[in-house]
Amino acid sequence: MKVFHRDARQPRTSFVASQFTCVSWKVATGMAFLLTATLAWSEPVPGSLDVHWNEGAADCSAAQQDPLQIHKYEPQTFILRQSPCADFEANFIYLLIGSDKALLIDTGAVADPKAMPLAKTILELLPDKEGKKLPLLVAHTHRHLDHRAGDPQLESLPSVQIVPIDLKGVQSFFGFTDWPNGIAHVDLGDRTVDVIPTPGHNQTHVAFYDGRTGILFSGDFLLPGRLLIDDAAAYHDSTLRVVDFLKTRPLNHILGGHIELNAAGRAYRFGSHYHPNEHRLELARADLIALPTAFERFNGFYAQYPDYILTNPIRNLLALVVIAVAVLIFIVWGVRRLLLSRRRARASKV
Ligand SMILES: [Zn+2]
Ligand SMILES: [Zn+2]
Repeated sequence: MKVFHRDARQPRTSFVASQFTCVSWKVATGMAFLLTATLAWSEPVPGSLDVHWNEGAADCSAAQQDPLQIHKYEPQTFILRQSPCADFEANFIYLLIGSDKALLIDTGAVADPKAMPLAKTILELLPDKEGKKLPLLVAHTHRHLDHRAGDPQLESLPSVQIVPIDLKGVQSFFGFTDWPNGIAHVDLGDRTVDVIPTPGHNQTHVAFYDGRTGILFSGDFLLPGRLLIDDAAAYHDSTLRVVDFLKTRPLNHILGGHIELNAAGRAYRFGSHYHPNEHRLELARADLIALPTAFERFNGFYAQYPDYILTNPIRNLLALVVIAVAVLIFIVWGVRRLLLSRRRARASKV
């Protein structure tokens, strides 16, 4: 699997630009043509998101649902959605096909192949090349179990390579030497996917930018749901890094790992298997652009925006514990006072 590494702050055309002054006019004209051709080539291919995602059911035991929904965005890009009945996380999984290799982004929340036939489905979607299935690279947006539970199923596929889940493994596989700075690149053959470190939700988090479709696959970094913050400073820096990276690049959609909001922007109960009237999956550049400011204004606990919620689960849990302890102390104090006053009243009667 060819993975190469290059500094994020170096725009793709800068090498051409820096050489432009020291070449003859003829060569310059040729390079200008090449540059134009490159720009035209980098125009993303269109795709369809005209799909109604499986919303689960109020009573999953009575519902007959396919565990995995497959949507062809365009002939070389597939979106798979795990049924909310199969697991409340209802993960989105993405399959990107190049001419030499394919990339699977995340493997979802369900390990059991009988309950979730992930490997079988991927095998059916993978095209043949020279009489064999296209080699597959399995990468994760981050190491949380709901994004990698399907890994063991895929190990049995032919020509499969799975990116390690620990931070050191991620860094060395992609060749990051100055984490979280720099951008890695995965060459799938006529299709390059950029890997952008995005720690904050989890220290191993990366986002994938696909030049073919102009899609940012954002995992749990940015999605229509709860942005669960583990390290607010790292998260904020990641938002700035992604905004900067995409400043000069086309961006058709931002596709995350889950949908946790309804169309009105209200969150489903945590753990719910039923998502009626879901928010659309795709977010836009405006959502990303607003994210750094949302972090700068964040009160440290909870903030609701139309397309996402910022929340720090550990802090909220601590705040709940503090409130619960305060209420308990108040109740004990009140009961004690009541008992004392009754005792005094009884004593005064004697
Ligand atoms: Zn996560
Ligand atoms: Zn997740």
